[in-house]
Amino acid sequence: MLDIQKIRAEFPILSQKVNGKPLVYFDNGATSQKPQIVIDAEVKYYQEINANIHRGVHTLSQLATDAYEISRGKVQQHINAKFAHEVLFTSGTTHGINLVTNGFASILKPGDEVIVSSLEHHSNIVPWQMLCEKTGATLKVIPMNEDGELIMEAFDALLSEKTKVVTVNHISNALGIINPIKYIIDKAHAVGAAVLIDGAQAVPHLKPNVQELDCDFYAFSGHKMCGPTGTGILYGKEEWLNKLPPYQGGGEMIKEVTFEKTTYADLPHKFEAGTPNIAGGIVLGTAIDYLNNIGFENIQQYENELLEHATKRLLEIEGLRIYGTGKNKASVVSFNIDGIHPYDVGSIIDKLGIAVRTGHHCAQPIMNFFCIPGTIRASFSFYNTKEEIDTMVEAVKKAKTMLS
Ligand code: PMP
Repeated sequence: MLDIQKIRAEFPILSQKVNGKPLVYFDNGATSQKPQIVIDAEVKYYQEINANIHRGVHTLSQLATDAYEISRGKVQQHINAKFAHEVLFTSGTTHGINLVTNGFASILKPGDEVIVSSLEHHSNIVPWQMLCEKTGATLKVIPMNEDGELIMEAFDALLSEKTKVVTVNHISNALGIINPIKYIIDKAHAVGAAVLIDGAQAVPHLKPNVQELDCDFYAFSGHKMCGPTGTGILYGKEEWLNKLPPYQGGGEMIKEVTFEKTTYADLPHKFEAGTPNIAGGIVLGTAIDYLNNIGFENIQQYENELLEHATKRLLEIEGLRIYGTGKNKASVVSFNIDGIHPYDVGSIIDKLGIAVRTGHHCAQPIMNFFCIPGTIRASFSFYNTKEEIDTMVEAVKKAKTMLS
């Protein structure tokens, strides 16, 4: 059992008032709030060990380098990567995906196929489209059903020896649907395709096991899992990271530079050009420790209760429709009220201190599928409460009355 009041007290922002009302923060899918321990770790880095890494012989540089590499090791353990050098620090999921698509530009040929899903965030659509435009490869899309679930028979039918890459998100940001990624990975591997999993929405809710999943790449952001903004991880299997060319050129990523030829550093440095977000990388490790101390089983169990409560309470409102009615879901509820624009509901409930996301959630194809301009999305974290959900439900009712 989680002591939610104790946990809430660890997040200073949660005791704030917004528009004169106690903050109800349900925009965790966009970014999570940060516990004091994470905020303190960021301050401590700058107060005590700030120095550039991997290049100084002086003590501070060594302390900062050690802390950075310890954090890489924490991530390796957390996601169960085989080697620490398979864990690349990035600025976020978007960066990780672009690193991979940039690499595949030298691998794909005209006639090759890339499969994405209809549930993707724009971050996991646009870079692949750009890659296909560059290489002459063709983009194929796994369709979804009315419950917001990917149709696996259609996926099976898309696979062929032409398929070179398959990419899907682990959990949909717009609907909260958890995708059958193990099935997708195994099927894709059976035709020799590489698989990238966009784990941006999964890592706040679960602990991915990349070796068990056997995915080739797994990208996520630190800021959605209680870590700092501008941090992220790209996991890549050693063989793939050795095969892909570097993403950016610069300092740190080289072995030797002459004007005739440059040789590249070994993994992970080959993909980490320039001075990284050192503080952020270190503090991401603190955030991961924090989450593991709470325990992902506890988090999941509690968040499922929140999801169940929110679903039940919201459906009491006449004319309210939830999108993403599939069975396997994370704690996200995406909804609309008949005849009312989601933005209007979002604006009214903001005045009541409630932060939800309204709009297309960077997933316009999903909105097109449902023929809607967007949804109201409430995404819950382990520090939210059922009482907060009740407050939101009352606020949505009020908004409905005002706007009808
Ligand atoms: N993929 C998914 C599923 C996401 O939800 C997000 C963030 N909303 C991203 C990718 C992009 O993450 P970031 O903006 O942190 O790079």
